[in-house]
Amino acid sequence: MNLSFHGAAGQVTGSCHLVECAGRRILVDCGMFQGGHELHDDNAQPFGFDPAGIDVVLLTHAHLDHCGRLPLLCKQGFRGEILSTSATRDLARLVLLDSAHLHEEEARRRHRHGHRGGKHEALYDSVDALDAIDRFGRTATYGKTLKLFPGITATFFDAGHILGSASIRLDLTEAGRKRAVLFSGDLGPPDRPLLNDAAPPDDADIVVMETTYGDRDHRDLDASISEFIAAVGHTARQGGNVIIPTFAMERAQELLWFLRGAMEAGTLDPDIQVYLDSPMAISATRIFARHPEALRPELAAIIHAGRDPFRLPALHYCRDAQDSQALNRIRSGAVIMAGSGMCTGGRVRHHLRHNLGNANSAVVFVGYAAEGTLARIIIDGAKTVKLFGREIRVKARIHTINGFSAHAGATDLLAWHRGTGTPERTFLVHGEQGPLDGFARRLGRHGVEIAETGKVYTL
Ligand code: ZN
Repeated sequence: MNLSFHGAAGQVTGSCHLVECAGRRILVDCGMFQGGHELHDDNAQPFGFDPAGIDVVLLTHAHLDHCGRLPLLCKQGFRGEILSTSATRDLARLVLLDSAHLHEEEARRRHRHGHRGGKHEALYDSVDALDAIDRFGRTATYGKTLKLFPGITATFFDAGHILGSASIRLDLTEAGRKRAVLFSGDLGPPDRPLLNDAAPPDDADIVVMETTYGDRDHRDLDASISEFIAAVGHTARQGGNVIIPTFAMERAQELLWFLRGAMEAGTLDPDIQVYLDSPMAISATRIFARHPEALRPELAAIIHAGRDPFRLPALHYCRDAQDSQALNRIRSGAVIMAGSGMCTGGRVRHHLRHNLGNANSAVVFVGYAAEGTLARIIIDGAKTVKLFGREIRVKARIHTINGFSAHAGATDLLAWHRGTGTPERTFLVHGEQGPLDGFARRLGRHGVEIAETGKVYTL
């Protein structure tokens, strides 16, 4: 039995872990590398294994850095089944098609600029994404064991991270020897507004766990909600716009839920115009309403009663590019939620271009920003940023609200790890160097290793 890591080892993105057992090859996640050159360089590198030799892919959740290379895997010969929860499958369809469109656009751009050496070819296109979507087979229900192959089963547990997210336990048998390998996936903190808490994990022999925030805890959620509502209210009174670079899944719906709560409680003016400027976020919001089984009971009850938990008095959905461009003319009073969350692409870059230079406006960061991304550059205090070939001075107020993280903080991660019993080995993945080292120190026990890319570990 072997385990190897082909992404998210020593870094946060590109999750892709390979388990080999009894002649079978099982891939857990097949994610995209994200960062400065995300659309090509790292993702175009060989996987480190033969995609045609993979028997099955188990998908923890629908974030791009966990599912984004699935179309590439299919393009390079993968013909097996992809297994996930049904909510993850629905969200992954959206994410993969959106990603394919971005790669097609990027390829056209490169072509126009005369890149040579095959660099104008899209990493993958819509047909590859549709091929990947066709490979989604059985769906997993939390807590129910699925038979993969003789002597190999998989069980999905709620990870409380985004809709449908899971930790996955693999029970492996090879030549009479049994091993239980538990992949945390991305873990959410407890008491999230929309999702149930992560399920307590089972005991395992081997644990592979994320450490995104392995060296720190988040601010209290209630304090973060107050800070968010205060930033929106203050900017609206001051006469500027609020730009929220937001992830289309989970965060966008959470923010709508918080805004709704504040407007109902009278702490925020219900006349504030809120624009959800993201076709993907709009579609994701619809998918949420299809999966009450993956939501907190109070949300599920609202949906079962035929009501929309994300409805606001003045909420506008902007699907068309024209509607989005029209927002550039609004000088004040708008709350604009647009992707991408790390500002690496998408409509939010246009809104930043029109609002970063306005001292009355505010940019509110509400999610994780990887090193090298525009979001991180602004959060780190850049005085100017380059957008669409122009230097833009940063005059808008910058808010960074960490308490909304979809990732568990260090204390929650430790508690989750305690629930795995006394594993022989724990591999730490999905973290930058500081959090990886910090969490290894916090665990402070034998058998803790920071996973290395490409190295084969015998289990
Ligand atoms: Zn994630």
